[in-house]
Amino acid sequence: MSVDALAIVLWALSVAVTVAAVVLVVRTITRMVRIVHLGRPDPTRSASPGRRLWTMVKETVGHTRMFQWSAVAAAHWFVFAGFIVLSLLIVEAYGEVISPDFELPLLGGWGVWNIVVEILGVTTVVGGVVLIVFRQLAHPRRAGRRSRFTGSSFWQAYFVEIVVVIEGLGVLLVRGFKSATGYLDAPSWSDPVARGLGAIVGGNDAAIRLMASVKVFSAMVWIIVIALNITMGIAWHRFTVWPNVFFKREASGAPALGALKPMMSNGAPIDFEKADPEVDVFGAGKIEDFSWKGFLDFTTCTECGRCQTQCPAWNTGKPLSPKLLVMSLRDHAYAKAPYLLAGGGTDSEGNEKLSEAELAELRHRDPLAALEAGRPLVGGSEVDGIIDPDALWACTNCGACVEQCPVDIEHVDHIVDMRRYQVMIESEFPTELGTLFKNLENKGNPWGQNQSGRLDWAKDLPFEVPVVDGVLGDDVEYLFWIGCAGAYDDRARRTTRATAELLHIAGVGFAVLGEGETCTGDPARRAGNEFLFQMLAQQNVETLGEAFGERERKKIIATCPHCFNTLLNEYPLLGGHYEVLHHTQVLNRLVREKKLVPVADPGRDAKVPVTYHDPCFLGRHNRVYEPPREVLAAAGLVQAEMPRHHERALCCGAGGARMWMEETIGKRINLERTDEALATGAKKIVTACPYCNIMIGDGLTARQAEGLGDGVQVLDVAQMLLTSVKG
Ligand code: SF4
Ligand code: SF4
Repeated sequence: MSVDALAIVLWALSVAVTVAAVVLVVRTITRMVRIVHLGRPDPTRSASPGRRLWTMVKETVGHTRMFQWSAVAAAHWFVFAGFIVLSLLIVEAYGEVISPDFELPLLGGWGVWNIVVEILGVTTVVGGVVLIVFRQLAHPRRAGRRSRFTGSSFWQAYFVEIVVVIEGLGVLLVRGFKSATGYLDAPSWSDPVARGLGAIVGGNDAAIRLMASVKVFSAMVWIIVIALNITMGIAWHRFTVWPNVFFKREASGAPALGALKPMMSNGAPIDFEKADPEVDVFGAGKIEDFSWKGFLDFTTCTECGRCQTQCPAWNTGKPLSPKLLVMSLRDHAYAKAPYLLAGGGTDSEGNEKLSEAELAELRHRDPLAALEAGRPLVGGSEVDGIIDPDALWACTNCGACVEQCPVDIEHVDHIVDMRRYQVMIESEFPTELGTLFKNLENKGNPWGQNQSGRLDWAKDLPFEVPVVDGVLGDDVEYLFWIGCAGAYDDRARRTTRATAELLHIAGVGFAVLGEGETCTGDPARRAGNEFLFQMLAQQNVETLGEAFGERERKKIIATCPHCFNTLLNEYPLLGGHYEVLHHTQVLNRLVREKKLVPVADPGRDAKVPVTYHDPCFLGRHNRVYEPPREVLAAAGLVQAEMPRHHERALCCGAGGARMWMEETIGKRINLERTDEALATGAKKIVTACPYCNIMIGDGLTARQAEGLGDGVQVLDVAQMLLTSVKG
């Protein structure tokens, strides 16, 4: 074949494959947009567009969330940069097929461009190989359930990574051939790789044409494959991550932690006084009940499994994996989409919107979609459910998945939305939650204790604890929020007492609500009972309003991170705006101000370390990591970190209302965490949350019954400081 004939054939093939790729991908993108629009409206996602734009650029270009995992993130960043920059060389490749000396106008002869291309060509190949090797090393056949790729598609990942390597090699080889044939019009300092390769491979026009067409073909085959696989998140996230990050829940750029997403219906937070079950949506009972952002989340999952590796439920053998949950929702959404796009769905009474004839037509045209439409969103294998109830109720709301997700998927909000529907519409929830709800409704606390016992914790204190009576006096700086655990649980009461004593010693004016306090509603909300949460929260907002009166700064101290989080982040939705501090923050400040002076150290003599367990709702949800550690350091204590700490700390197993549910599948999470703490050799496991205190305390009791952890204690930061201050 003559060179001209070769050029014509390659050009014709390149054009043909490109046309096919463009047609298919445009069709798929159109379909994807239509499917994402099947989700419910959510107008809260575009406030502060400037900040959102900045977050998007920072997180995508800077890989700021990915760099929590450095080596893989570096490889991924080079592949990402190569994809963005080297895509221009696909354009150049069309020209090279026709005319081997073709180069991009303006850029082709520019030294900076050439050196950038050389660097990215090499790093793209290396990055692609590193990702393939890493995927092999972390393969489930080695790590089993611990592998972050368990349940991820391997062929899709390898396909994407191999195309990356081919594209990188294609860029370098074409440059090598062009250098050898004298077509590379670049300053000599800017093309060392091309010259080196050119000296090895030589070059001629046919080689350039062939290699350029390989570049075009591999790129177009990649596009065709992803166009034919609309749920191939590992490829599609290259495009969907941009809007997914832009429209993330928090305009500030923070992850979707802290407060839960308000319960939305028709684009507005639900108002139970006006809510109409005929019109309003109560959580997510069907895939189409999720918002369009939910659909975009599901589409964007890359199946990287970072969330899975951090999930306490998955790590202790439970059926919940945040990755598999998101993948299941994605696959279901796209499989059911033809039915929804045809106008399918059910009204509030469960009646089908499509006529019999329309349903018959759908069954004929797309039998799988018709079948998928019949699957319940939440249900066990006996009903072919999408999300197993055991998975749904295993979530502790610890937020580790949200924290780690590089593309800002909002797992916790989606999980709680499904719980909301199960609780408020289906009345389907673990039986233990029935008791919790009843206790909260009737007694205002999860334990079902009498309200009259709310001040029992203060009985043996050597001073009188002021109780709010009317509006807080000028001598009161803080309202001390005790919380249900702090009032009724024996271990948590010790923390409450220690904190009160320390405030008293430091001369800080505080008062408590006593019998005026009721549960913040956190367990109800996390369990999906939004109605009960709002009832309790409104009552508290009213009580707090009366206590604070016209005061400008409404300062609250809480020892329970769940109360802290709810008061600080969730009460504003109901009109309650307060300055809420965790007791470890206040104590740390008092130590710095020398109002509290630690004078002795119960652990220092033996040089036995203490280990601090980060409560999820203090750490990950609210970024309070250092104050508790600083208090311990001020007391002169040697601290040994557990392998999982700070952002990656393992949950104690109590959040998300799990405190009140049985844990019958896999290893108990509190035992897993207790084992980790004991392995540090610490004699004191210190925490800053009554739930963690109870859970790890129970774990320790269980281990001590087996002869482990002799002499070890579980204590709160406040107890440690009080011992130290008292000397
Ligand atoms: S919030 Fe925690 S328990 Fe729930 S899915 Fe995420 S990592 Fe798992
Ligand atoms: S949800 Fe996020 S962290 Fe989990 S697999 Fe998907 S992209 Fe990765």
